[in-house]
Amino acid sequence: MRATQMLIPTLREVPAEAEVVSHQLLLRAGFIRKTASGIYTYLPFAQRVLKKIMQIVREEMDRQGGQEMLMPIIQPAEIWLESGRWHVYGPELFRLKDRHNRDFCLAPTHEEVITLVVRGEVKSYKQLPQLLYHITNKYRDERRPRFGLMRGREFIMKDLYSFDRDEEGLEISYRKMHEAYTNVFSRCGLQFRPVEADSGAIGGSTTHEFMVLAESGEAAILYCSVCDYAANVEKATTLPAAGLDPGIQPLDLQEASTPGKKSAEEVAAFFGIEPFHVIKTMLYKTDQEVVAALVRGDRDVNEIKLLNTLGALTLELADEATVQQATGTPAGYVGPVGLKNIRIVADPEVMALTNAVAGANKRDTHLINVNANRDFKPDLVEDIRMVRAGEPCPKCGAQLQEARGIEVGQIFKLGTKYSKVLGANFLDENGKEKPIVMGCYGIGVTRTMAAAIEQNHDQDGIIWPASIAPYHAVVIPVSPKDENQMKLAETLYQELNRAGVESVLDDRLERPGVKFKDADLIGYPLRIVVGNKAVEEGVVEIRRRRSGQTDLISLSEAVEKVR
Ligand code: ATP
Ligand code: MG
Ligand code: MG
Ligand code: MG
Repeated sequence: MRATQMLIPTLREVPAEAEVVSHQLLLRAGFIRKTASGIYTYLPFAQRVLKKIMQIVREEMDRQGGQEMLMPIIQPAEIWLESGRWHVYGPELFRLKDRHNRDFCLAPTHEEVITLVVRGEVKSYKQLPQLLYHITNKYRDERRPRFGLMRGREFIMKDLYSFDRDEEGLEISYRKMHEAYTNVFSRCGLQFRPVEADSGAIGGSTTHEFMVLAESGEAAILYCSVCDYAANVEKATTLPAAGLDPGIQPLDLQEASTPGKKSAEEVAAFFGIEPFHVIKTMLYKTDQEVVAALVRGDRDVNEIKLLNTLGALTLELADEATVQQATGTPAGYVGPVGLKNIRIVADPEVMALTNAVAGANKRDTHLINVNANRDFKPDLVEDIRMVRAGEPCPKCGAQLQEARGIEVGQIFKLGTKYSKVLGANFLDENGKEKPIVMGCYGIGVTRTMAAAIEQNHDQDGIIWPASIAPYHAVVIPVSPKDENQMKLAETLYQELNRAGVESVLDDRLERPGVKFKDADLIGYPLRIVVGNKAVEEGVVEIRRRRSGQTDLISLSEAVEKVR
């Protein structure tokens, strides 16, 4: 393409709203424009990068036996009701109605659709395993869309789902995906680390996140430089077992009806006790599960496993409305179930209480005669702590190191979680009906593009890894008005493209300095300058973006040299 015929709206100024480098550079280099908060238009250069990332993803999925398909984004509420996620997903789910007032949502993920398709079509062990994937837009009404493509509300994801007969089959599928992900991110030229991650309160199953190492990463990870141990901080955190002691039979713990309850104060008034005697947070299992599911839906909230450990804890609440909606419990009463940056307070005064009121198990119901030290195990709370850099590696004992990472992908052993609720069964060799064993595997395509920039840039702009660069080279005639120069530049540009070196001819009537600045900003791996030397001596200047190395090469050899 010729620059004069392209839309490359580069900017000199750093846009004020952009906090991280990738966001700044994507705007400045003319790759994206904001359409709404967390929703972007990908301009032609961005689209080329995205297509390359998607092609790499496709090749690696296909290599492992993945079959590409395409599932709908608009999905009926019924299937989300069936899986139980309609009510627990929370405000991150974009909901909409059709003209008949029927409920739909914009898919944040595709477990429901794919599991129902497989339920309908797969009946026998002979049809397993299946690895099915697609690459499409996802929608999540993130609480804090930010950092440009890093945390959007509309973004592109590849999601693959594996269906196996048993755990051994799942293990094989999981390993295939682990390998595929390693290949994808290596081919994209990224420095990354697979880390053990936490699978949420009801989990216990295996999951890894693929983290691109970058200062701007939202996730903290701990890794060992001696062995291969690496985990995100949440996973590495040591957690006690359940805080609610299952062995205790709280004989006089009773449910009490408190219709229309609103707040701790009102409940206290209802029972004629001091407000303090209402234990603010006391999540019994039912609540935990509700909130767990809610929080799992919102992967921004990765403190969910802490819920397992809750006794009479007070958690700092980041988003009370979320909890309220999920539990149907008035805010200010259900203990604030924290989102990011949870603060756990084992309140000694609360723990000393006897015959307090607690609750929120059911709407308009409380528990009375609660004795904190009897009905809870507050001492376990002390065990909850973050593992920090410098502490011993759980595998080999060497000192753990800390780093920041961007989660570009996650692989997850789901087991029979979805197949059981949705009834996706198969008949085994003995004619016995069994739930299909599933896994799910996501890659954020748009986030990967942003992560690549976080890792590959300098003060002048982007430094694309060649495999995902929008173009490999830019050919810059120093004086486009000089017919001879222009002719040589034009010929070189055409020969490069014919040889598979995707090139742009910067034929704009701009000063060379402007073009050089744009070339650096956009991040073409190669810049080829055609000036007087080309006309007089048949020599062009080739500069490599990453190393800055500049070579003078004869025109006749140029194509051979760079292809
Ligand atoms: P995060 O922890 O950053 O919120 P997640 O764990 O919720 O991400 P997954 O459900 O694991 O995300 O989705 C798979 C991949 O999709 C993620 O690894 C990430 O690369 C990408 N992704 C998730 N949310 C977003 C988003 N809001 N914007 C861009 N990409 C996203
Ligand atoms: Mg996550
Ligand atoms: Mg999330
Ligand atoms: Mg994830």
